[in-house]
Amino acid sequence: MRYQSTRGQAPELDFEGAMLTGLARDGGLYVPTEIPRLDPSEIAAMAGRPYEEVALTVMRPFTGMDDARLAPLIERAYAAIDHPARAPLRQLAPCHFLLELFHGPTLAFKDFAMQLIGQLFQDVMARRGERITIVGATSGDTGSAAIEAFRGLDNVECFILFPHGRVSDVQRRQMTTPTEANVHALALHGDFDDCQAAVKAMFNDHPFRDRVGLTAVNSINWARVLAQVVYYFAAATALGAPHRPVCFTVPTGNFGDIFAGWVARQMGLPIDRLVIATNRNDILHRTMASGAHRKQGVAPTISPSMDIQVSSNFERALFMAYGRDGRATAQLMDELAREGGFQISQGAMQALREDFVSGRASEDETRATIARIARTTGEILCPHTAVGVKVAEEMAGEAPMVTLATAHPAKFPDAVEAATGTRPALPARMADLFDRPERVTEVANDVAAIQSLIEKRIA
Ligand SMILES: *Cc1c(COP(=O)(O)O)cnc(C)c1O
Repeated sequence: MRYQSTRGQAPELDFEGAMLTGLARDGGLYVPTEIPRLDPSEIAAMAGRPYEEVALTVMRPFTGMDDARLAPLIERAYAAIDHPARAPLRQLAPCHFLLELFHGPTLAFKDFAMQLIGQLFQDVMARRGERITIVGATSGDTGSAAIEAFRGLDNVECFILFPHGRVSDVQRRQMTTPTEANVHALALHGDFDDCQAAVKAMFNDHPFRDRVGLTAVNSINWARVLAQVVYYFAAATALGAPHRPVCFTVPTGNFGDIFAGWVARQMGLPIDRLVIATNRNDILHRTMASGAHRKQGVAPTISPSMDIQVSSNFERALFMAYGRDGRATAQLMDELAREGGFQISQGAMQALREDFVSGRASEDETRATIARIARTTGEILCPHTAVGVKVAEEMAGEAPMVTLATAHPAKFPDAVEAATGTRPALPARMADLFDRPERVTEVANDVAAIQSLIEKRIA
C-alpha cells in the first residue's frame, strides 16, 4: 500500500513511512493512493467476533504487515481498554445506540488510536535502533492519550502542548501527573489552534525536524485514522451490516474520527448517513451549509475537545472531494493560512454533501440533552457525546443510528454535574488522580523558544 500527500508535492511513502512522517514535507497529510474494498462476506464474518480480530481484518490491507507481526501489536494495544467488548454498544432509544469509546486509560476515544500507535512505534523503533521525538498539540484528550501510550517507552521523548487554562482539571492532571522522564507536558499561553500552529511550524522547520527526529501523533497521523476505522466495522456489523445500512453521528472537531467513518464506507461498509456534529464552534457545519470554509474566533464551550476552527483532517476530505487534486488542495490550504478561509468549488461541495450531513448543538441544547437523557434513560453523557446525541436525534431515519460516545462523563464532571445535579465518579483505577503531584512547564506562544526547550531536554 502506497501513501500520497494531499498537497501533491511530497514523495509517496509506504505505511511505516507515512506513520513515522506524520505531516508530509509539503505540509499535506498522507492518504492511501487507493482504499481497499472488503468483500461483503468478509464484513459479515466480523459480526460477533472479538474486537482484535475485526481490527486485524480492517487494518491488514493498509499496513502491508504480516499477521504474525501485526496481530500481537493489536492484542497488546487493546488489552489497555478496560472492557471485554472494547467498544460496547448501548441502546438509548428504539433505533439509537451509543458506541462507548471511553473505556481506555484516558477515558476518551483517542486511546483506541494512540495505544495502537504506541505499539507500532515501539516495534518500528526497536527494529531500526533509532530514537524519535514526539511533539503533539492537544485540546485535552489527544495529549493524555499520547502520554499514556508512550510513557516509559525506550527511544521516544514525548512533548505535549496544551492551551493553558483551557483543558479540564482531569485532562490536565492526566498529562501532568505521569512521572516518567520521557514525558513533557507544556502549557502554552494561547488556544488550541496556537498549539496546533506551533507544532505545524516545527514540522515545517526541516533542519529542526531532522535534528530531533520529530514525529507527529496528532490526529493528522494516518495510523490514527486507520485505527479508528475499526470501530465503525465492529459497531455496524453488530447491528446487522452488511445486510442492512447503519448511520453514524460523530462529535467532530479535527475531523479525524469522522474521516475514519468515511474510509470505512469506502471500504464497503454500508454507512447510510455520516453526520458531522459540532458545538457552537461550527466551522464544519457552516461549511456544509454554505460552501464557504471560513474561520471565526474559537469560543470556549463545555465540550472543549471540539473547540476548534482549524480542522486539520478536513484537508483529507477536501482532497478526496477534489478528485485527489493536490494542487487544488494546496491552494485552498494556502488561502486558509493567508486569508482565514476559502470557497469550495460546486463540484467538490456536491461530493462532500453526498458523503456527509451536519448539525450543531448550542451550549443550552447540550446541557438540556445531558439532563434529558439522564432523566429518561439513566445514561450519563459527556458533553461531546451530548452534542452528538442532540444532532443525531434530528437525523433519525429508518436505519439504526449510532452516536459515538467519545469520552467518559467523569472526564468533564463540572458540566455533567451542572446538568444533572450528580457528580460522575472516576473509574476506580484512577480514583487517586487528584492526589498525585503535577509536573508542567508553562511556555509562551513562541515557536523558537519551544524548539530550544525541546532541544535542551533531549540533549
Ligand atoms: C478529540 C475529541 C473529539 C473530536 O474528535 P476529532 O477526531 O478531532 O473530530 C470529540 N470528543 C472528544 C471527547 C474528543 O476527545
